[in-house]
Amino acid sequence: MKLPKNFNTNYSLKENNSLKLNYASDYFVSCNSEKDLFLIYDFLEEKKIKYWIFGDGTNVILKNNLKGLVIKNNLKGFSVNGNSLIVGAGEIWDDIVFESLNKNLYGLENLSGIPGSVGATPIQNIGAYGSEISNFVNYVETFNFNKGCFEVFSNKACNFSYRDSIFKDNPCLMVTKICLDLSQEFKPNIHYEALPKIVKNAKEQRKNILNIRSQKLPDHQKIPNVGSFFKNPIISGTQLRRLVLDFPDIKYYLFEDKNFKVSAAWLIENAGLKGSKKGDCGISKKHALVFYNYSETSDFLLSYSSEVIDIIKDKFGIILEYEPSILC
Ligand SMILES: Cc1cc2nc3c(=O)[nH]c(=O)nc-3n(C[C@H](O)[C@H](O)[C@H](O)COP(=O)(O)OP(=O)(O)OC[C@H]3O[C@@H](n4cnc5c(N)ncnc54)[C@H](O)[C@@H]3O)c2cc1C
Repeated sequence: MKLPKNFNTNYSLKENNSLKLNYASDYFVSCNSEKDLFLIYDFLEEKKIKYWIFGDGTNVILKNNLKGLVIKNNLKGFSVNGNSLIVGAGEIWDDIVFESLNKNLYGLENLSGIPGSVGATPIQNIGAYGSEISNFVNYVETFNFNKGCFEVFSNKACNFSYRDSIFKDNPCLMVTKICLDLSQEFKPNIHYEALPKIVKNAKEQRKNILNIRSQKLPDHQKIPNVGSFFKNPIISGTQLRRLVLDFPDIKYYLFEDKNFKVSAAWLIENAGLKGSKKGDCGISKKHALVFYNYSETSDFLLSYSSEVIDIIKDKFGIILEYEPSILC
């Protein structure tokens, strides 16, 4: 059977996840071309094994060795068509934000500095500082590993919502390309409280965002982490009103359908857990939503984070959900 180049067996994933967890996969392949996609499809059809799609591994927690094939998306490409960018899934997201500003195409500034690949951006509908990728997606091209063919999803078909999309429930779909509709006019999105309210141009906005991020978030290259560990919980107005009686300074925002988004960082900080530690893992002193881990396994990290979930549930009656994908 013909296999793509860069096909490996018993492969350590340590350099492929930002928590630097040292688990291995039975097989590992870098997917560099359309031809590779069909070779990988044939391999999976014959072997009938489990598979996982990886970008840069900045939003995954490995639970143990992966019994199957890891497909590292490395499909490149960048082109401009009017106000639209068409980008290969294996490009680095922040390089694309930078390039878009060089082409005088605006909109992505507030999503500056988010680590990871382009292909992962629609999966959890990345967002920061009042902006989400779903605001810009025209279409997402995917390869369906169940059917062995390409499928294209319009923005509506992606079913985007807060840190969610149709792709989360369909791991057979590998994002291969995305098309983003941008604007020739810079309209600053400065609603987020910490952002300066006067900004000259989009490059300055990007600089402001990168500055705030570097102050608030530990660098995952130095301190292994996956950014936000939990989603901000969405609760009803009734639940919020009850909470406000006991915790008048609780931090929340109006969300859709008369619901409210509560700051998970506020909950963790107010439970006294910011900066706490267990074994080789703990919660950052800089940001209460960032868990770090210096161990090569995720045992302590997962048991400590589930203790945190229990503490928050007991104190506030709110159940925190993991933001990263847990792979096993
Ligand atoms: C320091 C730090 C800060 C962060 N800040 C933010 C932030 O502000 N906002 C935010 O939204 N996120 C943030 N993140 C999370 C992360 O950067 C994003 O979720 C990013 O999009 C993940 O990209 P990745 O290539 O590393 O994906 P991976 O971690 O490799 O994969 C994440 C998930 O997407 C799937 N996936 C990846 N690529 C594809 C593909 N091509 N097709 C189908 N499925 C795929 C994987 O199977 C997995 O389930 C942060 C992470 C870190 C470490």
